[in-house]
Amino acid sequence: MAFDTELYRAVERELEAIRKENESDLARRRMAVFTKVPKIEGLDDEIKSLGLKLYKIALDGGDVQDKITKLRASQKALLQEREALLLENGFAPDELSIRYRCAKCKDTGTVGTANCDCYKKKLILKAYEESNLSGMLEDQSFATFDLSVYPDEVGEYGMSPRENMEVLLGRAKTYASEFEKQKKSLLFWGDPGLGKTFLSTCIAKALLKNGYSVIYETAYSTFTMLEDLKFNKSDNAEKLRFKVDKLYQCDFLILDDLGSEFATQYTTSALFDIVNSRLISGKKTLINTNLSIDELMHKYTERVASRIIGHYTMYEFFGDDIRLKKSDVSGS
Ligand SMILES: [Zn+2]
Repeated sequence: MAFDTELYRAVERELEAIRKENESDLARRRMAVFTKVPKIEGLDDEIKSLGLKLYKIALDGGDVQDKITKLRASQKALLQEREALLLENGFAPDELSIRYRCAKCKDTGTVGTANCDCYKKKLILKAYEESNLSGMLEDQSFATFDLSVYPDEVGEYGMSPRENMEVLLGRAKTYASEFEKQKKSLLFWGDPGLGKTFLSTCIAKALLKNGYSVIYETAYSTFTMLEDLKFNKSDNAEKLRFKVDKLYQCDFLILDDLGSEFATQYTTSALFDIVNSRLISGKKTLINTNLSIDELMHKYTERVASRIIGHYTMYEFFGDDIRLKKSDVSGS
């Protein structure tokens, strides 16, 4: 799966800005050094002119080895003198060189014909930013998912919350790793504080790493955006249109906290439109909600609920709020 072309462009722009910043950073440092120790500027000019001479000798041809050796020796002496002067005056030995953020590719983004690791990292970071998840993604992943916070007492459900989460975690991992094969969207439902958003973020992170476009929005802000666009309430309609388009077009949309907003006829039809459009275009969605399917039906009509029943795999989260449990532990 390849990343969006727009993300590559964004990374290229970032690298270009870094290279420019490197240049002006060097110019600033040179200025500071030459102002404090004018002698270094003279040495610097000499070193440069020797470099030019070296180039000229090589072009002249003939038996140039001796000349080159001599020039190199005087250049080396000058460099040593310059470095000693820099240190003496409290500067770093590399004060007059470009300082690259990535030494491997010198901030070009490529090593030979391949993309540098720093380029790939930037690409994933851009995808994170675009997803609205960048803040949450740092510590939330399948690797950090902690089943032990879920109680292992078997209650009315015939299995413990921990066993249930173990199953959900396994399904979520498979869903993400075999994303292309998945036919259905997902609905996570259950009381607040049981890890629905966390598990969604884990799926998002795995997908983003593989180059899928993922957008995370709460239902509330989704409806607000759609409404602002429809009724021309935004100062920046073009930007808003772009964001709304992403909701429809991204590979995976996470619609968090559906049901907590005040439902109107408008939100109901907006929800139907987004759910249905994504189904038609074969895009998968993950809805998190505190509502059961009956409650969804009540709140958003049967038309919406039937789309969800037919095309979503539903997973129930149950147990007590693990966030409260965690704070109990830390508070005691
Ligand atoms: Zn690099």
